[in-house]
Amino acid sequence: MSTSTAIAFPSRTEQILESLRSSGQLKLLQVIEGPMDATVRLRGFGEVVCLCSNNYLGLANHPEVIEAAHEGLRRYGAGTASVRFICGTFDCHERLEARIASFYGVEAAYSFTSCWNANEAIFPTLCEPGDMIVSDELNHASIIDGIRLAVSIKKGLHRAVYKHNDMNALDDRLREARANAAVTGTIWVVTDGVFSMEGDIADLPSLREVCDRHGALLVVDDSHGTGVMGATGRGTHEHWGMPATRVDFFTGTLGKALGGAAGGYIAGSRAGIDLLIQRGRPTLFSNALPCTVACSADKAIEVLMREPQRVQRLRDMVALAREGITRAGFQVLKSPTAICPIIVHDTARAIAMSRRLLELGVFVIGFGYPVVPEGHARLRVQISAAHTPEHMRTLEIALAKLYAETAVSAGNDPRHTEVGGSRAR
Ligand SMILES: *Cc1c(COP(=O)(O)O)cnc(C)c1O
Repeated sequence: MSTSTAIAFPSRTEQILESLRSSGQLKLLQVIEGPMDATVRLRGFGEVVCLCSNNYLGLANHPEVIEAAHEGLRRYGAGTASVRFICGTFDCHERLEARIASFYGVEAAYSFTSCWNANEAIFPTLCEPGDMIVSDELNHASIIDGIRLAVSIKKGLHRAVYKHNDMNALDDRLREARANAAVTGTIWVVTDGVFSMEGDIADLPSLREVCDRHGALLVVDDSHGTGVMGATGRGTHEHWGMPATRVDFFTGTLGKALGGAAGGYIAGSRAGIDLLIQRGRPTLFSNALPCTVACSADKAIEVLMREPQRVQRLRDMVALAREGITRAGFQVLKSPTAICPIIVHDTARAIAMSRRLLELGVFVIGFGYPVVPEGHARLRVQISAAHTPEHMRTLEIALAKLYAETAVSAGNDPRHTEVGGSRAR
């Protein structure tokens, strides 16, 4: 390596960081000094209402979930010190995977250390040259990167993107795929169940219908829908009254509603899961989910299956939050999920508003470019079943105060917002 490269890197990096700093886009990591719950103790701010976690069912600090992790640690120690196909599979992994499969009512499931990893496993492993992957333009970054990885590993694997939730656009892409002589194999359609930045949901019945018309498989990453959507929290398919078996593969996370620690999974046909066990690089070459997490996630799913009323409790809190946000003067994007986005357009403004909200006792994150497109910055309020009506009241009071201050200082009225799609990444 030449000396000039060694000098160039630090100065180039500092330049990038400085441009983020000067444009108000630098992210500051807040440090939490206790468990994740309805409220958290935040370094420098004390106890604040937490409205930015994906702890949708309040299971991250649930006594049974914590005890299950302790029990896992006592029983199995820290971990396997191995990848799964060598000597890295404990019976707690098997139990968790059976639980996930029964939760969905599908044949089989396999766990990963994250849903990011699951998405990096599914496409490169199950897709072959001659296949085509067709993806919603607003899909999560891990799906996008999983597809990129797949097409770079397997020459002759094709990809296309369709306009967000637009079934005519999807139909066009699939018709083109069928007319393409190079597409000789399987066509895969992949979508988020719940889109994290808008809080809107995939139209799964229509997606299934379009897929069936063209003989395509459907993959749904329901990371934000699991534990949230449908009467018993099975996910976006349940919201639509659709059997899980109408989805070919689910990917999902254990790091949101299902305990909140970490971990992900793929659920679907036995044959597909068996192929992932044989060929999935993230588990052939990387350790298993830690036992503490395998046990706590298993318990979290058990609690959800036993107490589906948690899902209704979440929905009641979301309704209160939405009313409060509106009364405070802000507009919230319509959504049947636990995500309540308030569009404020400018990235620096979103960050400044979230900082002010923290001083007012509520922890809400501002999202700006590049997570959402330039001009579509937002505050994203996320609700948990752990919240109480009092917490929702605290949110409303803080937002009303912020609204009054913002209207005075800017003449830039956040109420009059254009509600538009965002193209993430
Ligand atoms: C959060 C999220 C992920 C990442 O999950 P991890 O388990 O934290 O890697 C993947 N996909 C979607 C749709 C998500 O919302």
